Parts: sequence; structure tokens; C-alpha cells
Amino acid sequence: MNTHIIDGRAHAAALKARVRMGVETLKARGVRPRLAAILVGDDPASHIYVKSKCLQCEEVGITPSPHYLPKDTSSEALLSLIRALGEDDSVHGILLQLPLPPHLEASRFIEAIVPHKDVDGLTTYQMGRLMSGQEGLIPCTPKGCLHLIQSVSPELKGQHAVVVGRSRLVGTPMANLLLSQDATLSVVHLATKDPWTITRQADILVVAAGSPHLVKADWVKEGAVVIDVGITARVEGGVRTLMGDVAFDEVAPKVKAITPVPGGVGPMTVACLLENTLICAGGTLPPCA
Ligand code: NAD
Repeated sequence: MNTHIIDGRAHAAALKARVRMGVETLKARGVRPRLAAILVGDDPASHIYVKSKCLQCEEVGITPSPHYLPKDTSSEALLSLIRALGEDDSVHGILLQLPLPPHLEASRFIEAIVPHKDVDGLTTYQMGRLMSGQEGLIPCTPKGCLHLIQSVSPELKGQHAVVVGRSRLVGTPMANLLLSQDATLSVVHLATKDPWTITRQADILVVAAGSPHLVKADWVKEGAVVIDVGITARVEGGVRTLMGDVAFDEVAPKVKAITPVPGGVGPMTVACLLENTLICAGGTLPPCA
């Protein structure tokens, strides 16, 4: 099969160019979009992610405001920062980098973000809007995945979409987003018996399990569109590699289109974060050129 390797970096660059134009329009109206990013602790991967998000904010004209807190930060201190940022009119979006240290229960702090600044779309308010088919801030990774899916399969009506994983961050909002596009939906997760019997039926397969190379060629239907959200870092002989949830080499020859890891979903997640920040600041994306 002539497989299309979906270039997430190229799609992200195109989206970021449109965000940049949207930001310029806002600035001409006197609004300077600002994204506050909160990072608690010293997890090296989280530091890399926040640094990259801040750099990419600058690329599109959004002002980043990183807040680095020590790993023993108290609940009260974190809550008071989130509330202060919620009340600060110069801040348009609030990003809470996950995971938090074990003594801080993420859902409590996510809920403290004022919904109109919830750039990750993770508050119950924004999730509820997505689940009830209302417009709102859509979680960045699922939003990026839908963009990539529609780049190769614009019409999802009548297609069977299967999502592997049901997390609050990815799987559950992804499932709702696919339903909103009139796809027929199945979700498989850790408790699903013989998940490959379901994934094999997928026209669209989105995998967000965090289990490297879980999906093999015999899990996938010929001609499917496969989106690999998984990222697991492995260090072997001092070399760090990123592994997806899909065994790319054996799955790619069988399918119509597939995302690589790295260079697939990851760049789109950040581009969608920038788009959500633009929306929070009252801006809109200009149409595609
Ligand atoms: P999670 O651990 O919160 O959820 C994983 C889900 O997958 C669970 O619902 C679990 O039931 C299911 N699952 C796990 N193993 C399974 C198996 N063997 N069979 C069927 N279902 C299984 O993880 P998450 O936050 O949803 O993230 C998933 C993956 O996506 C991780 O690798 C994460 O690093 C990656 N991720 C990537 C991006 C990106 O921008 N590319 C963003 C977020 C998460």
C-alpha cells in the first residue's frame, strides 16, 4: 500500500502561522495574549516541555509567563497562584503542567483554573461542553489528532473510529470529539478483553495507551488511518529514543495513513495549545491560505 506518513511538524507549522496572524490582529486591537505556565517540581521531561511551549509562544507573538515552583510546594500555595492568575486580566491562558508531584491531586488544581483561561480544556466545565456538543476549549492533544485525521479523511460520518485509552487527558475527549464528527465509536482500555478484535474493525484508530509498540500489524485493518499518541522515552547505551504505542515498521505498510513518533501528534499538541491561547485572548484563526 502507498502509505501516507502524516507530517505532524508540517501541519503544526501551518497552524502556528495562522495563530501568528491571529495574534497580530489581536495586538492591533491592543490585546497582548499571555500564557501563564505552572510547573511544580523538577521532572526533567516536564521542564523540557514547558521550555518548548514557552519558546513556541514567543514564535507566534504570545507572551509566556513561566512559574517554576519547588517540588514540596503546598496545596495552598499552588491554589493561591492559580487563583491569582485567574484574577489577573493580563493573563489570558493558564497551563498547569502535568504530572504534579504525588502529594498534589491534579484534578483539584485543574478545577481551580477559571474555565475561560483553561487552555488545556481539562476543567469539568470545558469537558462538559465538549460532551454536550457545545463550543468550548478542546483539549490540545485530541484537537491536534482530529486535525491530522481530517487532513487525510475529512468526512468521518459513517466511519468506525476506535480509541485505545480512556484517560481524561486524551482518550475520553478524543472519543467525544470523534462522536461530534458523526463517527461510529468504540473505546478499548486496560479492562477490555481481546482489544485487537475491536481495533481490527477501525477505519480510524487513535492509540493513547502509553504502552510502547502495543499495536501490531494484526491489530489493524488494511487501509486504516492510524494516529499514534503514545510517547515513551527509552535510554539505551546512553542514547534516548522516543517510542510510540504503534509498531510503526510493521503497521505502516498495511495502512492508508499513519503518524510517526516523534514528528506526529506531539508538535500538533503544542500548536493547538497556542491556538487555544489565542481563543482565550478573544482572537480567531484566519482561514487557511
Ligand atoms: P494514561 O496512563 O492516563 O491512560 C492510558 C489509557 O490507556 C488508560 O485508559 C488505560 O486503560 C489504557 N491502556 C493502557 N494499556 C493498555 C493496553 N495494553 N490495552 C488497552 N488499553 C490500555 O495515559 P495518557 O495521559 O492518556 O497518555 C497516553 C500516552 O500518550 C502516553 O504515552 C503519553 O506520554 C502520551 N501523550 C502524548 C501526548 C502528545 O502530545 N503526543 C500528549 C499526551 C499524552
